[in-house]
Amino acid sequence: MNELIKISDNVYIVNVNVLGLSEWLATHVIIGSNGLLVIDPGPNLCVDSLVNTLIKYFNVEDIKGIALTHIHLDHGGGTGLLIKKLGSVNVYVHPRGVRHLSNPERLWEASKEVLGDLALTLGRPEPVDQGIIIGLDDGSVVDLGGTVIKAIHTPGHAPHHIAYLVEPDNVLIAGDALGNMFNRRIYPVTVPPFNLVDYLRSLNRLSRGSYRYVSVAHFGYVENDCDIFIQRFKDKIISWSIAIASFIKEGIKDPRDIYDELLQSDQELSYMFKFREVHKLVKGASYRAVLGVYQYIDRLLNVEGASIDDLLKMMFSIGNAPTK
Ligand SMILES: [Zn+2]
Repeated sequence: MNELIKISDNVYIVNVNVLGLSEWLATHVIIGSNGLLVIDPGPNLCVDSLVNTLIKYFNVEDIKGIALTHIHLDHGGGTGLLIKKLGSVNVYVHPRGVRHLSNPERLWEASKEVLGDLALTLGRPEPVDQGIIIGLDDGSVVDLGGTVIKAIHTPGHAPHHIAYLVEPDNVLIAGDALGNMFNRRIYPVTVPPFNLVDYLRSLNRLSRGSYRYVSVAHFGYVENDCDIFIQRFKDKIISWSIAIASFIKEGIKDPRDIYDELLQSDQELSYMFKFREVHKLVKGASYRAVLGVYQYIDRLLNVEGASIDDLLKMMFSIGNAPTK
């Protein structure tokens, strides 16, 4: 049975246990006086078990909507199937995700390309009726009665990524905008096609908030010192980028070799690899994150002709950009 974790009065995590693996995806349930909202229901693979948990702990007739941080299979793939079981509810997503939910064909093809067999395990998304999908602009608010969620556009992990701020509980539901966490170790989830500039800008934007809690999709939440938690992801992506650029300049061409080099120098990464990636659902996850950064940096240096100095200047100018 899935574990239910309370973050705050109105915010819960369902720790969906799937194929014997727990702490894989945090599905959030947000409670308001007008109803409930589910954020990131997960893939088809998890829908039956999620429904059982929702029935056990909540009144499923009160579920008014499903909101997605982004449409990747592990977060939103089960949306269509869940609606079949729950009945029609509003689905909230970034405006760029709307057409992929109603017609998931391209999403499915791209997922198979990036994830291989894992996509088949997670399951092919079922289309969602376009009439119930609501695109959320940056700053849009969904009012659940007493509790509101505010959409913060946070591109980088995906161009259509949204983080949600739940008020008044002051919980940031970061999705994949920050990265993965396991036993307090972290690394950024920077899978291809990854955009370093967008990702850093989004981290910067999130770091301006003063949250009571920050919850990441894979997996868990921190309380207090949230600014330090966000800063760790910034430091990590900057150090990965510099290291990867140096490896490329040294002539290392194969991303597998670059990953091996990073495993030697980054203890958090090697911890994740050794102790987390023992299950088929998460095998290769940290490699894909490194691959995304590698592809971005390789293009920057070898196609656009930038130097490591240019890369450093770019990262620090984003890091020091004025807040708005
Ligand atoms: Zn994810």
